[in-house]
Amino acid sequence: MSQTSLRAPMGPVPDVHQAEAIPDAARAAIEALMQSGDLFRYTAPQDAPVALLEAEFAQLLGAKYALAVSSCSAALFLSLKALDLPRDARVLIPGFTFAAVPSSVVHADCIPVLCEVGENYRVDMADFEAKLDNVQAVIISHMRGHTSDMDAILALCAARDIPVVEDAAHSLGTTWHGRKIGTLGAIGCFSFQSYKMINAGEGGILITDDAELVARAVIMSGAYEHNWQKHKSAPSTETDDATGALQAAFAKWQNKLPLYNLRMSNLSAVVIRPQLPELARRVSDGLKNHDYVADQLNQSPYITVPAPLAPEKRAPDSIQFNLVGMSDDEVRRFAKASAAKGVKVQVFGLSEDNARAFWNWQFLPEQQSLPQTRAMLMRACDVRLPVRLREDELDVIAAIVLSAIEDTMEAAAA
Ligand SMILES: *Cc1c(COP(=O)(O)O)cnc(C)c1O
Repeated sequence: MSQTSLRAPMGPVPDVHQAEAIPDAARAAIEALMQSGDLFRYTAPQDAPVALLEAEFAQLLGAKYALAVSSCSAALFLSLKALDLPRDARVLIPGFTFAAVPSSVVHADCIPVLCEVGENYRVDMADFEAKLDNVQAVIISHMRGHTSDMDAILALCAARDIPVVEDAAHSLGTTWHGRKIGTLGAIGCFSFQSYKMINAGEGGILITDDAELVARAVIMSGAYEHNWQKHKSAPSTETDDATGALQAAFAKWQNKLPLYNLRMSNLSAVVIRPQLPELARRVSDGLKNHDYVADQLNQSPYITVPAPLAPEKRAPDSIQFNLVGMSDDEVRRFAKASAAKGVKVQVFGLSEDNARAFWNWQFLPEQQSLPQTRAMLMRACDVRLPVRLREDELDVIAAIVLSAIEDTMEAAAA
């Protein structure tokens, strides 16, 4: 890629796709697994790496139960199945999310209903409320880690007895009024895919305080026969009551549910566990980096970076911003100019076949029109900001975006 058009002297453009190294602490556990060949979570009588991960993750989030699975999509699918929704139940999801989310709804034999999302990437509460009376469940996707008004969402859903599943795939470490995102709804789902806060290539986990829900999800994830006996509540919540409730729920559902086999392998768990102690640092670095770049981008009259809601403390590893006062053509030219300078800016609604643009979800049983969300997607930009980047590297990214805007708009004025 040519960098000759760069004006200011600056360092090389950082590679925003390069991952952070897996902590060295993983090596011994990986080596032990290679020696033993014990990759399946249910071979060991107890303390398999996947079981240890579940205990540690539940503890970290302050939840009673955790179930590690093959992806966040699998966790979302199992959440809907655990809720025992009838076939063709309607599930309300935000119109701005990743295609995997409506896909998990379809996978669970339910019908996705999309609600409008505002210019700040958060659920439009008026549209949400208007559509709520005709749905049986809600999945709130905290898309790119942006938290919608969870106070209003939880109150509206509680009043109608509608369960809320949190898709916190990209929100690990975010808090709302100081409470951890993923612990607010009936079930919280997280991803360990490489572009999320914790990287195992692939993987997911769900958390809940509800023994019945977790028991159903555990069995359906593939705990055949009596393998559910290897599932426990988080160590700090392991009271006789919690253990008793779990055992009773497992006994109740034995042999009654399909086994979808969405388990996590021990190899993934040993890659994830040593990253848990890194989370706090990644979250604070990610937020610092994001706000540092946001301050620079907000200097441009053509850019706005939406502010978080007041109760929200974010954990970003990317930045989203809206272009204002620019035509479709100028937006396209800007994206091209920025890419030519080395920073790929994805405009959600303009890049071809984008998986986050709802009109590309042609597999939906019911197509829906969301004019407000569509307008937002036509101006909303996405730039990766891995938490490992240094200030000088962030400066390069911000300078390139700003100069691409300047070039585009100067050319337009000329
Ligand atoms: C990544 C992501 C998913 C999907 O997670 P997988 O683990 O890849 O299935 C779902 N929702 C959101 C908001 C995501 O960012």
